Amino acid sequence: MCGIVAYIGNQEAYPILIKGLRRLEYRGYDSAGICLLGENLNIYKCKGKVSDLETFAKGKDIVGTIGIGHTRWATHGEPNDLNAHPHYSGNEKLAIIHNGIIENYDSLKKELIQRGHEFKSDTDTEVLIHLIEDVQENENLPLAEAVRVALTQVVGAYAIAVLDKSDTNVIIGAKKGSPMVVGIGKDEFFLASDATPIVEYTKEVVYLEDEQIVELRRGQGVKVRSIENEVLTPYIHELEMHLETLEKGGYEHFMLKEIFEQPKSIADSMRGRYHIDSGTVSLGGIIDYEQKMANAKRIIIVACGTSWHAGLVGEYLIEDLARIPVEVEYASEFRYRNPIIGEDDVVIAISQSGETADTLAALELAKSKGATIIGVCNVVGSTISRITDAGSYTHAGPEIGVASTKAFTSQVTVLFLMAMRLAHKRGSIPESRFQQLLAALEKIPAKVEEALQSADLVKYIAGQYKDAHNFLYLGRGYNFPVALEGALKLKEISYIHAEGYPAAEMKHGPIALIDEEMPVVVIATKKGSYDKVISNIQEVKARKGKIIAVVTKGDTTAAELADHVLEIPETEEELVPILASIPLQLLSYYIAVMRGCNVDQPRNLAKSVTVE
Ligand code: GLU
Repeated sequence: MCGIVAYIGNQEAYPILIKGLRRLEYRGYDSAGICLLGENLNIYKCKGKVSDLETFAKGKDIVGTIGIGHTRWATHGEPNDLNAHPHYSGNEKLAIIHNGIIENYDSLKKELIQRGHEFKSDTDTEVLIHLIEDVQENENLPLAEAVRVALTQVVGAYAIAVLDKSDTNVIIGAKKGSPMVVGIGKDEFFLASDATPIVEYTKEVVYLEDEQIVELRRGQGVKVRSIENEVLTPYIHELEMHLETLEKGGYEHFMLKEIFEQPKSIADSMRGRYHIDSGTVSLGGIIDYEQKMANAKRIIIVACGTSWHAGLVGEYLIEDLARIPVEVEYASEFRYRNPIIGEDDVVIAISQSGETADTLAALELAKSKGATIIGVCNVVGSTISRITDAGSYTHAGPEIGVASTKAFTSQVTVLFLMAMRLAHKRGSIPESRFQQLLAALEKIPAKVEEALQSADLVKYIAGQYKDAHNFLYLGRGYNFPVALEGALKLKEISYIHAEGYPAAEMKHGPIALIDEEMPVVVIATKKGSYDKVISNIQEVKARKGKIIAVVTKGDTTAAELADHVLEIPETEEELVPILASIPLQLLSYYIAVMRGCNVDQPRNLAKSVTVE
């Protein structure tokens, strides 16, 4: 959460920082701010979006070839002008931007107040810059050293960038638990929460590790030290990101673009990993751990939000195809509930950003107990992908819309491939079935394309129900997680209350909610428990609920019962979740647009949840 960008070089910093903040705005967007170091150390910040910041900064002194910028997702103190970042130190000689939470901020603040410090904001961040100032002044240290010493007193998570008015040639960065990447250009450096603000200037990046401090000084190389003051050699990576993936490309919203990108993003997730000629599946990233996974007594999947729903599909797939017991856990619960876990366990973490704080902590716990840890992430070079023993990238390309769409279908695709690989290795499904599934997988991108053709019909249906106060989503088997994900999508971006339920559970409670005002989205695709789902539709109808049914193309039974029908192409049951998600994503999108909601930046949410 929150976006950090910093620049030092020969160009004017302001336009680079603003552009960078725009790219990072999906990470947090309740306030924005900038600090430029020219003759003075000028901070401009305000509540609202980056565009509000631009209006605010108009006509002001924005000169400087060194600066830092921030888009906030408030944790400590409401989103207002004062709490927006950057923050000054007490003497106004230092400025900081921060992503994360300083957990011991309260005790640090009390000590600093006793030593005469006064604070202007409610943030934990301001405490940190006062602490750095305190260390710098008391111990007469250069900035990099003061930052390092101050951070030894900090408990919590941080990615920070600090400027010092008395040294116009340096930016200091540091990270623990929140991501930070350095871009190395020609006579210039960038520092950011992810590579999106950097990619148009340079492809050379260094991913900082936890408890590392970086000094970016004009005319020198990147200097990295550990918090223990060891000098470290930075490893330079080549970025593979492409600029056009970060633009809207003619679509009204990133979310719509990303929904329509799915034929390609799913194909990218599969590319090079299935081989029709030899009839095999191979996932390079897990090759050395396949045997361990295949022998595991159980697999635990940890994730949050949409990734947790993908994890549920993964559970059904791995149990069904590879016959290995799977548990799916909310990472935030797993990490705090003293789980029984040992060396025979394999823990798979799913996270789009690869930075999700709870998922990261769950993995670290599993690792400390000796489990093998595997990652399924989208962002290349992210923390989870670096700390895991092995893993498979989803390769969906950057996802900017805060409500996840293409990342979900790519996660399911990768989990399908994993389940298939394990099934082959264990011989747990007949070869003929394996080949059938492989052939079906190959056709999925084209079928997603076909499913997208229902967009106009979905838009029409959205118009009929946009004013509903509640929605129910029902599905069974593989479609149960799809129902959960459909409901989450609607909640996230339209603010309509929605619940996902296993269709059969409806009669144990939620059926009490059904009346003529209640739209019920039922995923009633052929195979699986189709007949049972039809009975569930009847139960809803008997209580005058409105049925929007997602059905297999050509189905007439469900179509006769439902008020509205959305067809998806036929495929194997194991792959239905990918296709069935498409109309549900479109439904939430169109409803949210019709209700005037900001679909790419829904209220209170942010992409990449790097705080607990
Ligand atoms: N904890 C800090 C604040 O509330 C940083 C939040 C963020 O990551 O945006 O200001």
